[in-house]
Amino acid sequence: MLLRHTPKEITERKALVINPAKTCQPIGAMYASLGINGCLPHSHGSQGCCAYHRSTLTRHYKEPISAATSSFTEGASVFGGQANLLQAIENIFTVYEPEIIAIHTTCLSETIGDDLKQIALKAEAEGKIPKGKHIIGAPTPSYVGSHVTGFSNMVKAMAGMATPTGKKNGKVNIIPGWVEPSDMRELKRLAEMIGVDYTLFPDTSGVLDGPLSGEYTMFPKGGVTVPELKGCGDAIGTLALGEWCSADAARWLDSKCKVPCSVLDMPFGLKATDRFIDALRTVAGTTVPDEVTYERGQLVDLISDMHQYFYHKRVALAGDPDQLISMVEFLTSIDMIPAYVITGTPGKKFETRIKELTKDVPCEVKVKAWGDMFLLHQWIKNEPVDLLIGNTYCKYIARDEDIPLVRWGFPILDRQGHQYFPTVGYKGGLRLLEKILGALLDRKDRDDPERTFELVM
Ligand code: SF4
Repeated sequence: MLLRHTPKEITERKALVINPAKTCQPIGAMYASLGINGCLPHSHGSQGCCAYHRSTLTRHYKEPISAATSSFTEGASVFGGQANLLQAIENIFTVYEPEIIAIHTTCLSETIGDDLKQIALKAEAEGKIPKGKHIIGAPTPSYVGSHVTGFSNMVKAMAGMATPTGKKNGKVNIIPGWVEPSDMRELKRLAEMIGVDYTLFPDTSGVLDGPLSGEYTMFPKGGVTVPELKGCGDAIGTLALGEWCSADAARWLDSKCKVPCSVLDMPFGLKATDRFIDALRTVAGTTVPDEVTYERGQLVDLISDMHQYFYHKRVALAGDPDQLISMVEFLTSIDMIPAYVITGTPGKKFETRIKELTKDVPCEVKVKAWGDMFLLHQWIKNEPVDLLIGNTYCKYIARDEDIPLVRWGFPILDRQGHQYFPTVGYKGGLRLLEKILGALLDRKDRDDPERTFELVM
C-alpha cells in the first residue's frame, strides 16, 4: 500500500526509479522500422531482447511483429557480434527477401562497442547485400533515453537515405512522430484534403492496422517506400511533428539536403491541429478546403456544448513528451486542469514547456521529466484528481485511488481500438473528448445512480 508522503520525502528520491514511465529504446526503433515498406527490423543483441521488443509491440498493436535477431550467446558477448550480424544479413536477404533491413543495437551490443556502420560496410564489401537492397542502422542503447529516443534515432537513419538530385520534387516531408497507424492515416487524409503532395515517414498505416485476410503477409503493402525515402532530399520542406520524436531527422534533412524544416507540436487538440493545418497550407501554397473547416467547427461545437463537464476538472497525465505537450495544451484550452504531468523520457525542456503552457492555470501544476509512476501515485495520494490519462500501467493507480482512466499513449495492452481510431486532427479531437467525457460521466452515473441524467446543453 502506498502511504501519503510529505512533499520533502517525495522530492528527495533521486537515485531510484520505481515503475518507470518509459520502456526500452529498441522498441521505438523497431516500431519506426515497421513503417518502411518491405522492411525487416533486426535487433543486434540477444534473443531475449528481441522477444521482448516484439511481444510489447504485438500486445499493443494486436498484429504479429516480424523481426530478426543477431542471437548473441556468450561468445558474441565477449568477442563482439560482428560475425553474428554478417551471418544474419546474409540469411535474412536469402530467406525472407526484404527490401531493406533496419538494424538497431541493444544494451549489450552497445556496451561491447559493436560498430554498425563498419559492419554494414563489411557486409557490402563481402557481397552480402544483394543489388538494389538496403541496410540502415541506428544506435539504441537502452541505458540512456527511452523508447522515444530509439524511435527518433531510427527515423533519423531513415532520413539518412535521402539522396538529393538537386531538383525539387514538389513534395512535403511529414514526419508524424510516434503516433498510432490510425493517426498516420488521418494525417495523410488531412494532407490530401488540403491538396499537399507528401512523403510521410515512418508510415505504419497499412502495416499494423491491416484487415484479417486469412493469409499471413510478412511484408504488408503499407509503409513508406525506399524510393520515397530517397526522394526526401528533394522535398520543398519538412514538417516534423514533435521535438522529441521527429526534430532530429528534420534538422538533418535541413542541414545536409537543404530541405527547410518546421518543428511543430503533434496535432492533438484544437490549437495544435490548427497550427498543423496552417503549416501544411503555407508550405504547399494551397488553401484550406471547406470540409476541413467544417470538421474544425464540429470540434468547437462539442467543446462549447460540453464545457461545463470539463470545467476545472483535475487531470493527471503520464506518457511521452510530444504527446503530453499537445494534450496539456488541449486540456487547458477546454478549462481542465492538468495538475500532474509525468514522462519517463529525460529532458528539462519538457518541464519548461509544460510550465509555459500551464502558466495561467489557477493552481500549481506539477511536472517531471525522467519521472516514474510511483511519483505520480504519490502526488495523487496527497491531492487527488478527477481523471487519469495515460497508458495501461496507469490502471494500477486508477484502481487504487478509484479514479477514471482514459487509456491513451503507449503501451495499451488491455484495450482495442487505438490502432483503428485516430486521436490526431479535428476528428481525433472529437474522439479524445468523447473518451474523456465518457469517463467523467460514467463516474457521475455511478456515484449517483438514482439521478435522472441527460446531457445539459
Ligand atoms: S537489455 Fe537493454 S535492449 Fe535488451 S530488453 Fe533490456 S533494456 Fe532493452
